[in-house]
Amino acid sequence: MACSRYEYVKSYELDDRILPNVWIVIRIDGKKFHKFSNAHKFEKPNDENALNVMNAAGIAVMQEFRDIVLAYGQSDEYSFVFRKDTTAFKRRASKLLTYVTSLFSTSYVMNWPKWMDRQLVYAPCFDGRTVLYPSDANLRDYLSWRQADVHVNNLYNTAFWKLVLESGLTNQQAEERLRGTLSADKNELLFQEFGINYNNLPAMYRKGTILLRKRVVQSANDDQEKGSQAIVPIHDDLIREPFWREHTEILGK
Ligand code: ATP
Ligand code: ATP
Ligand code: MG
Ligand code: MG
Ligand code: MG
Ligand code: MG
Repeated sequence: MACSRYEYVKSYELDDRILPNVWIVIRIDGKKFHKFSNAHKFEKPNDENALNVMNAAGIAVMQEFRDIVLAYGQSDEYSFVFRKDTTAFKRRASKLLTYVTSLFSTSYVMNWPKWMDRQLVYAPCFDGRTVLYPSDANLRDYLSWRQADVHVNNLYNTAFWKLVLESGLTNQQAEERLRGTLSADKNELLFQEFGINYNNLPAMYRKGTILLRKRVVQSANDDQEKGSQAIVPIHDDLIREPFWREHTEILGK
């Protein structure tokens, strides 16, 4: 390519390659989704279809970036975990982050009409951050942190919206009622006042959504494509040991 006298400006771009041999986590989060969810009349505390839109966008990202070994979504956020040895985009941090964030956003919009019966009234957007974790234990603690977050929020929100929607409390009264309560108190309140066993609520609301790659066993008469991969959503507890014993492929051991 011919050079122009302007080309030196290219040298101002800094090398932002991520150091080798670390877990790369990219987390996106919806901008002001408290407002977005009101503007689009999400059911409270959990709009199932809105979560399905998030999951569809998460799957689209995982389909495009084959080095993502696991994704985890809850509320308006999604985390994507890249293999430690990925060479995608030469591990350039800003390329990875911006591709994932923009593909997630556009996929969210593309999938919206498949799940929602209302039109988008404005364009949603997502922030993104990259976090590096050197050890498997750090990565597991990261994912546990996000799953503990959905538990705490969902228990609170479930109790809050029951008090508002069914007991007729104002938002402020519900907030006062729940102030200082422990998990056990909220479980008890749900059970005593509303006959709800929290643990029987849909697992997607309580645990979030884990996306994993799994081999699909093809039927015997289908010799076209054997052992193709599928991205499978599950809603299990990833904090405890059994999850990691069942899905040994994630950490590669
Ligand atoms: P920020 O821009 O700082 O992220 P935010 O309003 O998006 O602000 P978050 O902490 O990300 O704040 O919270 C997301 C909010 O979006 C939740 O508190 C909830 O009100 C709403 N929300 C997201 N997903 C759903 C859903 N599926 N059903 C109902 N409400 C949802
Ligand atoms: P990369 O992912 O590396 O950016 P790329 O194919 O997008 O790959 P670019 O150097 O960004 O490579 O070039 C963009 C290409 O998109 C152009 O070469 C051209 O072929 C096409 N393109 C973009 N805008 C237009 C347009 N308005 N009309 C016709 N072609 C376009
Ligand atoms: Mg935020
Ligand atoms: Mg948000
Ligand atoms: Mg959020
Ligand atoms: Mg281009």
